Amino acid sequence: MGDTLLYLEDVTVSFDGFKALNALSLAIGKGEMRTVIGPNGAGKTTMMDVITGKTRPDTGRVQFGDRIDLTRLDEAAVANLGIGRKFQKPTVFENLTVFENLELALKTSRGTFATLMARLDGTALRKIDEMLALIGLGGHKARSAGALSHGQKQWLEIGMLLLAEPQLLLLDEPVAGMTDIETEQTAKLFKELAGSHTLVVVEHDMQFVRELGVRVTVLHEGSVLAEGSLDHVQKNQRVVDVYLGR
Ligand code: ADP
Repeated sequence: MGDTLLYLEDVTVSFDGFKALNALSLAIGKGEMRTVIGPNGAGKTTMMDVITGKTRPDTGRVQFGDRIDLTRLDEAAVANLGIGRKFQKPTVFENLTVFENLELALKTSRGTFATLMARLDGTALRKIDEMLALIGLGGHKARSAGALSHGQKQWLEIGMLLLAEPQLLLLDEPVAGMTDIETEQTAKLFKELAGSHTLVVVEHDMQFVRELGVRVTVLHEGSVLAEGSLDHVQKNQRVVDVYLGR
């Protein structure tokens, strides 16, 4: 797995005395793709909120890389470190074309007003073309993003996030609402990202989780109930009782 990129140690988050995260410990390796599953209320969203600085833990530590303590940073500072987050619903600029969405994402990732106003150079254009091919939208670049299917919008947003070259990308149920074919294509896309990107994917679609074939973390009542391959966690009777068997 290589070096650890993200490390949560004994993280607890309480809401009015209720522990949404209860001494959660988790390590994600650099270049690893991890799926996180678990019943509603298990703490998956709260975990993402803690990593991205939206929620501060009561106790525990979230470490990024060798020494950065994420628990001291706010959301903007965490985003500036290169930690991207994709929420469940697609967020694209519906009135812009597919190409313009990617152009804007690339320019804003570079941050200055000058880059926002400048024309794209050849390298940038090539980057966008490569991204269009990767996300399967090469034939749609002049289309308005609002006219895309739900799955295509999700791929476009993932492409926009990837153009910022994130160190870590967190995705919340990326295939929810997709057709079976779109889900399969998304698995293919994610497999292409594996190794070169660090991804944490919260997902309920077990077929998709199986297709990805990576390490699975099962959350329950705010801590890790089981971890390993999907086959391994599926053999765990407690996992079956609280999640898979329902
Ligand atoms: P999941 O994403 O796995 O469904 P969540 O992280 O959303 O789980 O929620 C974990 C638990 O914490 C749930 O019981 C939820 O009701 C509770 N919770 C989450 N956010 C808040 C909040 N802001 N205030 C009160 N309770 C919350």
